[in-house]
Amino acid sequence: MTKSVDGIVRDVIDGGERARWRLLDVVQGVQARLAHVPAEAIDEIAEQMGLPRVEVQTVVEFYSFLSGDRQGKVVIRLCDDILDRFVGYEEVKKAFENELGIKMGETTSDGAITLEKTACIGMCDQAPAALINGVVMNWLSSDDARRVVRELRSHGDPKRLVHRVGSGNNAHKLVQSMVENNIRLEGDVLFSPINRGEAIRKALAVSPMEVIRTVKASRLRGRGGAGFPTGMKWEFARKADGDEKVIICNADEGEPGTFKDRVMLTEFPDRVFAGMTIAGYAVGAQEGILYLRGEYTYLVPFLLDVLERRRTEGLLGPDLLGLGRHGFDIRIQVGAGAYVCGEETALISSCEGLAGEPKNRPPFPVQSGYLGRPTVVNNVETLACITKILEEGAASFRTHGTDQSSGTKLLSIAGDCSRPGIYEVPFGITLGEVLDLCGGTDAQAVQVGGPSGQMVGPDAYERVICYDDLATGGAIMVFGQGRDLLEVIEAFMEFFADESCGYCAPCRIGTQLMKERIERIRAGQGEKRDIDELRELCETVRLTSRCGLGQTAPNPILTSLTNFGQIYQEPMQAVVPGQRRSFDLAGAVRNSEQIMGRESVHTGGEK
Ligand code: SF4
Repeated sequence: MTKSVDGIVRDVIDGGERARWRLLDVVQGVQARLAHVPAEAIDEIAEQMGLPRVEVQTVVEFYSFLSGDRQGKVVIRLCDDILDRFVGYEEVKKAFENELGIKMGETTSDGAITLEKTACIGMCDQAPAALINGVVMNWLSSDDARRVVRELRSHGDPKRLVHRVGSGNNAHKLVQSMVENNIRLEGDVLFSPINRGEAIRKALAVSPMEVIRTVKASRLRGRGGAGFPTGMKWEFARKADGDEKVIICNADEGEPGTFKDRVMLTEFPDRVFAGMTIAGYAVGAQEGILYLRGEYTYLVPFLLDVLERRRTEGLLGPDLLGLGRHGFDIRIQVGAGAYVCGEETALISSCEGLAGEPKNRPPFPVQSGYLGRPTVVNNVETLACITKILEEGAASFRTHGTDQSSGTKLLSIAGDCSRPGIYEVPFGITLGEVLDLCGGTDAQAVQVGGPSGQMVGPDAYERVICYDDLATGGAIMVFGQGRDLLEVIEAFMEFFADESCGYCAPCRIGTQLMKERIERIRAGQGEKRDIDELRELCETVRLTSRCGLGQTAPNPILTSLTNFGQIYQEPMQAVVPGQRRSFDLAGAVRNSEQIMGRESVHTGGEK
């Protein structure tokens, strides 16, 4: 007998704690059972969890993997990242559409299969790629697409599409994924063997402040891109008021071109979990959350198993190592497809079960973060470094890298190079040396740090990868001769316009205007003064947006204008009178604010 919606909602809610922070989990659970979250389910969730209906509805509407409209039992999400587009996205898409008899964004008439495009799924080194109910399919060809559809029609089970497993733990019985690690260069810090428990033992042998002093002495800086000194962040959180403190590991690497955290979590989860545990001890936190992007859901059973093993080994739980000194445990929060959740305050909102909207600062998360508790948010790689620092000491860590950028950096490299994959390099390496390593020596341009980073050309290949020169969260996209760089920039602008959470007008409208302006220039409908206007628009969006997404969205345009000005000049042609449409961001923002009833940051702060 088919279960009623209220019964399904009850089942899902009863599968865990009845707390508000579980809202996102509950909504995802209902979506998995009903292939959507209908209005009736929203009512039931609100009632059974004692939450305002609008809160539940906002969550359903916010995340791209959730839907209020019925989807197929199977959802094929084809990655339309620019690197996928360069290696056959269009052909694969057409093959899916033809075989399914539907267009992108539609569901087959029998309600069996939905075809959607999605932003980067972290498989740029094995593109074109798709997620099929969370199962990764990589290196797709048109033939593969047709085969996938035929198989799904015969058995309907995405897990049975996996006919070969990838390298390392991708072959683990709890993963069973086609994903390849593509580890090309193993350095001495992150990819060195781990002696489980050693780092935690060393940490617990000294005081929490001594641990913080060691981390400070290592000069470790956050690997997510901003480069804030980790020891200092921990000290702020330790000194913050409040008995309940939280450590969050940000594994929401949504920046197109980034896939290093996926590999760290697949091959070295113990290194990351140990780093979180040490952070918990140093800061005085007993609760840890691994925020895993929804695209990596296939890793959840494996990671839960690792956590459980660590509990049995005394490396997690109420009494670490049985010393009676400190307890710490970790839960996994899975995201649901929202790039903005990589921003730490948006990520905290998402961990709280809410829509992943950034929060105002101050207060900073170290003062008041998850559920109002002092919270440290560290990147996967940062926490993995912590384990090494505790294992071998700060001085040893500082022998890698440069004076101001100690240690090594993980790079995920993809695009027009012969050896795409993961490289652990010491800070201080030049971009040219990196291109030599990956076989990308013929590059006309490199996007360093993903779309929110910088587009640089050959005159920058002597620049050094470190915090003081070419800072990067780790994504390196290589574009060979003959690639249309304006097409790349247009794809990046499309990405930001899609991913803007829409809260503040400069970002919501500005990303759209930047995208449209690039489209027009690329279509040959631009004129010279468009460049000045575009630059002005970029500056406005950069300076007035509320969070990092809007503040960095103009970077591809600004850096390419500086480094590749000719790509804007080439498509220019004489303006056709009457065709040219100018833009007025200030006016558009004013209109939008009237509609939304808000003020933007530059006019006096958010409401
Ligand atoms: Fe949302 Fe504003 Fe951040 Fe853009 S800048 S993602 S609209 S909060």
